[in-house]
Amino acid sequence: MQYYNHKTQVYLNGKFVYAADTGVDLFSQTLHYGYGVFEGLRAYNTHNGVRIFKAEEHFDRLQQSCRALSIDYKWNNRRLIEDTYHLLELNHLRNAYIRPLVYCGPNMKLSHPGEPHLMIAAWEWSAVLGERLLRLCTSNYQRHNPNSIHTEAKVTGHYVTSILASNDAKQRGYDEALLLDHQQYIAQTSGANFFLERNGKLFTPATGNIFPGITRQTVIGICRQLGIELVEKQLTLNDVRNGTSAFLCGTATEIVGVGSIDHITFETDWEDSIGATIKRFYRNLVLEKENYEVII
Ligand code: PMP
Repeated sequence: MQYYNHKTQVYLNGKFVYAADTGVDLFSQTLHYGYGVFEGLRAYNTHNGVRIFKAEEHFDRLQQSCRALSIDYKWNNRRLIEDTYHLLELNHLRNAYIRPLVYCGPNMKLSHPGEPHLMIAAWEWSAVLGERLLRLCTSNYQRHNPNSIHTEAKVTGHYVTSILASNDAKQRGYDEALLLDHQQYIAQTSGANFFLERNGKLFTPATGNIFPGITRQTVIGICRQLGIELVEKQLTLNDVRNGTSAFLCGTATEIVGVGSIDHITFETDWEDSIGATIKRFYRNLVLEKENYEVII
């Protein structure tokens, strides 16, 4: 993946500048200690023009993540959304992934965060076609204990665990890692939330020990709209064994079916699963297709 070239512009502290010319402070607290926050958004080329899906929710979460780490948030989110649309135009992007990052200035001490900076970058993100079901493995890496971090904040340093777990899963021949929480309940994968189907109902891990994704919340809303019963509760590996299908969701992932977890293969054909219905609904939602039909 090429994230930028010599023509790519990024938003940096209120200005649009070439990505190659930014220069980064080598004494940044974020670079050394992972003390920074970020977001991941998607823009879609809809029939109403380029639209950033749930932009307000993502920038609000960026602000909340800063608050959790006591990083000053001196930006106006409405203005940031306008600037992000401008950034997409400058880079001629219609289907894109957008990455705002708040990073801290120089401070080598383990003390109050250094002066914050905000950069926003975006790059081309095309629809993945003909996607296959994922093969997951349960990971030996655990999701963080909520007494050590703020689980609801999207903090750069938290992703060390995600990278370790994901790399480990790939080395073992799987697509992704499914992490348990510190109480041995199912939590989520390294970068997406988990849903399980059983007896015509959906189950998803309750909040507390997971990162509560915006897509997870969207899926919960879709269930309400479609009259699908959804239960948020602590899930065990035994629940997974009794499940009939499963899927992951996230802004980048969207909705993707899970074929197996370790040696457990799900019996329901993906196309007949609730997940497949939700995937179609979600696609129509992000593309702002109003008169769509979903057959359950
Ligand atoms: N969990 C983690 C660890 C993530 O990084 C993400 C992606 N931001 C998600 C879940 C899904 O969150 P969202 O739906 O808000 O993208």
